[in-house]
Amino acid sequence: MKSRTKVLIANSVGKDDDGNHYILFPSRWSTCVGKTKSFNFYPYELGYLSSMLKQNKDLEVKMVDGNYEELTAEEYFEKYKKFMPDYLVVETSSVVYKYDLRFALKFKEKYGTKIIFCGQHPTAFPKEVLADGVDYVATGEYEPAVVKLVSGEKPKTIDGIYPNPVKELLDVHTLPFPEDDDISRMNYTRIGGCDYKEIEFFATRGCPMNCNFCVARQTYYGKPNFRVREVQNVIDEIKYLKNKYPEMDGIFFDEENHNSNKKFVMELCQAIIDNGLQDLKYDAMCGYWTFDEEMLTMMRKAGYYKIRIGIETASVKTALGMVKNVNVDRIIEVLKMAKKVGMRMYATFTFGSPDSNLTEDGKTLDLIEKLTKEGLLWDFQASVCTPQPGTPFYNLLKSRGNLLTDDWRKYNGNTAVYEYPDYKKRDIESNLPKAAWLYLKTRVRRRGVAETVMEIVRRDGWNSFGVKLIAFGKAYYRAMTA
Ligand code: SF4
Repeated sequence: MKSRTKVLIANSVGKDDDGNHYILFPSRWSTCVGKTKSFNFYPYELGYLSSMLKQNKDLEVKMVDGNYEELTAEEYFEKYKKFMPDYLVVETSSVVYKYDLRFALKFKEKYGTKIIFCGQHPTAFPKEVLADGVDYVATGEYEPAVVKLVSGEKPKTIDGIYPNPVKELLDVHTLPFPEDDDISRMNYTRIGGCDYKEIEFFATRGCPMNCNFCVARQTYYGKPNFRVREVQNVIDEIKYLKNKYPEMDGIFFDEENHNSNKKFVMELCQAIIDNGLQDLKYDAMCGYWTFDEEMLTMMRKAGYYKIRIGIETASVKTALGMVKNVNVDRIIEVLKMAKKVGMRMYATFTFGSPDSNLTEDGKTLDLIEKLTKEGLLWDFQASVCTPQPGTPFYNLLKSRGNLLTDDWRKYNGNTAVYEYPDYKKRDIESNLPKAAWLYLKTRVRRRGVAETVMEIVRRDGWNSFGVKLIAFGKAYYRAMTA
């Protein structure tokens, strides 16, 4: 009997040689978080790939997550070497690339395994990755190309296997439910910002916008795009999860832009209600521009309790530098509508993007203070705009000579890895403690110390409160000395 082709799908390492941990989301942002980490993202594109490959009975497919298991490169190989794969597929990011390469090459050396690398770093540097000993690079949204490759099609004929360009994005209607046997989706709840045990879920893909720092838009999809799954298929998946994991509290639609299509959102909400699934807690990554009161009211009725939006900046000049639109009046209008219907709003802000400076980023700090004062923000996240390789933002900084380092561990969202002639690294970074301090100070003034403390403890527990307290202490010090 012909033996089946063995495919090992491996998420990146969990730890480096110094014991630093990594939180991975290659199509968005992967980062080194130091000696401990609080959560893991579900490696959703590898998860979809695994399910797609398992439909081919000529393949023996196994998916593993060394990031979740906190494995170093050496531990990774030792733990999974017995599988002796013919193909090893790894989605990797710049920050973990050298460790992923190390364990992958061990498989190649020992068993002649063909290595397929995909994700942000290989898409940004395909030639270099091949020169490092990787056999194939699948660029962009890679699942269809990898399916064809391991199923025996000739690499030269496959779109998306480097150097062939990606011509078409995948058809989301063909997707099976992502991997939930070899790895459990229940292991990936309590993602940062989730107030409940929420399973990550992907009802849509893509985004119609064009932000120049965005890995998903620029590196994975290559063009503005947005695709929605069939509503019934989404409902079937929610039911499947609820049935398998009665202990789950809800769903986190961790997509690029859950609400780009109002018709889809309205139909999904109605279907959630019609199927009696509105008691689950839903949390979603959205864009603010399509919201109206009808959509927000319907979402609240269907069980959505939190919406996350990328405000990023209050400066029109800075927004233009990001190739993004910003309309502060519209943002405030949406946040007021959300408050009226009882939706918790979580917003992200970023500092140091192209064409920003201390004055323009100061407008964003003012906006954070104003929104907090008016009780329009439930929570927020501030970061240094980080030029991930493969994005136009990275290319721009590189061509202008603004980059200060290619130590990928520093591309972590807290460190300015660049500076401008009129906006220095220290000043860019100083915005983060200032934002944290403004938010906390304004919130405490509005709600009082006891209520603010209890709110954080109720949501995150005492341990996390302790960590936040230390972080805010540092933020205060840095804000005062910046
Ligand atoms: S709106 Fe968000 S997902 Fe869309 S391109 Fe911009 S950063 Fe990317």
